Amino acid sequence: MLKTEALKAEIRRLCKEKDAIILAHYYTIGDIQDIADFVGDSLALARKAAETDAKIMVMCGVHFMAETCKLLSPDKMVLCPDLEAGCSLADSCKAEDLKKFKEEHPGYQVISYVNTTAAVKALTDVVVTSGNAKKVVDQLPKDAKLIFGPDYNLGNYINEVTGREMLLWNGGCHVHERFSVEKIIELKKQYPEAVVMAHLECKAPVLAAADVKGSTATMLNYAQQSDKKQFIVATEAGILHEMQRTCPDKEFIPVPPEISESGLECSCNECQYMKMNTLEKVYNCLMNENPQIEIDPEIAKEAVKPIERMLELS
Ligand code: SF4
Repeated sequence: MLKTEALKAEIRRLCKEKDAIILAHYYTIGDIQDIADFVGDSLALARKAAETDAKIMVMCGVHFMAETCKLLSPDKMVLCPDLEAGCSLADSCKAEDLKKFKEEHPGYQVISYVNTTAAVKALTDVVVTSGNAKKVVDQLPKDAKLIFGPDYNLGNYINEVTGREMLLWNGGCHVHERFSVEKIIELKKQYPEAVVMAHLECKAPVLAAADVKGSTATMLNYAQQSDKKQFIVATEAGILHEMQRTCPDKEFIPVPPEISESGLECSCNECQYMKMNTLEKVYNCLMNENPQIEIDPEIAKEAVKPIERMLELS
């Protein structure tokens, strides 16, 4: 087995040889972020990749992110280091359940968070991200009947800031659901000067306790531009790698989960799906050009439409 640095060098060599790029989500391990061509959130990565001439893209994130990449670059080879890297939020909305819900609510438009499968996007009128959801919803007719899914917390926040009464799907991300106000209060006592930042997938009381609420990109930009020195961060702890890299003179404190997966106390909140991406798997998938992402052409045709609509509205 190659040592870490040798493995990183081999991956970069393979990228050059095969005209491939590595896309790394902010929540992947630092070693993967370090060798990536682009680091970002899921939609930004898919859009960046679509702008390049690379023949192969390796999406280091979770399965729906690789699908989004393929939707925006249908003629490219999209590799996914581990097809089992799923997402509790995407899993909380199955296409067949959404189809039934739509049938029960005729006349409603469906707004879906980008954290959904291609099959769910194919049943959607407009896709949103946590960064543009408010802007997109604000542009829809005031009397439009809207279903928002699958993230309940994000939908609830958007209802609050837009004054809408969208019907909310009761889904959520198990990582962001684990944050609690109590842990934030404890950290605030230790770091009274720190700015509290929380992702919009967190529960309403956590968002109410935050000074800055938004997407990963919002939090990152805020940290980079702020003259504050300490930040308490309530999102998946992988983002701290990019925060620390771009703000070396600042301190970032991850909020621990209320209860960890193992039931033991731990200092940060991690997504086990994101952490399924390893250097070895990146190397193997590039070497073997497998596993590749394929999407049923009929589903892909419908799934790309609500993404294009989002891009028009945002
Ligand atoms: S952090 Fe949550 S929303 Fe993001 S991939 Fe993991 S389970 Fe899905």
